[in-house]
Amino acid sequence: MRIIIILRKDKLLPILVFGTVLGGLLLLLSILYRVVPARSRLGQTTILIDPGHGGIDGGTQDRAGNLEKDINLSIAHKIRTQLVQCGVNAVMTREDDSELAPYQPGRGGRHRRDLAARIEQARRTKALFLVSIHCDWSTAAHRRGMVAFYYYRNPFGKKLALSIQEELNKIQPQPQKAAPGQYYLLEQPGINGVIVEVGFLSNPEEAALLQQADYQEKIALAIAQGILRALPAAAGRPTTTPSSP
Ligand SMILES: [Zn+2]
Repeated sequence: MRIIIILRKDKLLPILVFGTVLGGLLLLLSILYRVVPARSRLGQTTILIDPGHGGIDGGTQDRAGNLEKDINLSIAHKIRTQLVQCGVNAVMTREDDSELAPYQPGRGGRHRRDLAARIEQARRTKALFLVSIHCDWSTAAHRRGMVAFYYYRNPFGKKLALSIQEELNKIQPQPQKAAPGQYYLLEQPGINGVIVEVGFLSNPEEAALLQQADYQEKIALAIAQGILRALPAAAGRPTTTPSSP
């Protein structure tokens, strides 16, 4: 027996809308069911994202005059968004174009005071990791690539750098190695940090890429994934992955 249901056109639309909303709700519930237990643990973990330079300190720049500080800030915002979406308490040392220590006439050491303010934030927020974002520059214009640096005496920083590097290597043409580096920021007791150089502004091709929002998003996604993978078991293993833009 054939059953033919004939719907009038004016009744079809509400049914379609209702079906779509119901489907969406069910999908949302299924996602929440998977994510909530991980979130409750991850929410207690603070990650401090540090966009290098800012304000009166522009950092390095490309040939067109685009400043490192702006690229660092843009990528840092995107990393934070990814981490927050995964339930991590991600905070930033600066959220806008400002330095952390102002220039004071007659008083030197502004750069060191600026770095000290970032370290102080890592301590105050009890950040598990400090992830500092920078752009590189070289007199050799062909040099390019993203590298995560760590302090060789800090095993947590090294583990984080290796994890981030592995993710970065998935999105860059030439794989690079995470490397030990001499950075005041990373050598402080109690700081588990990395400095991620996200590319060379002296390389015209890489500098152009770093201006693109979707390329910045790719970098942010890789760094966020690297951070999540490096979280120790105590902070709760994430069951979520950052979402693609
Ligand atoms: Zn820098």
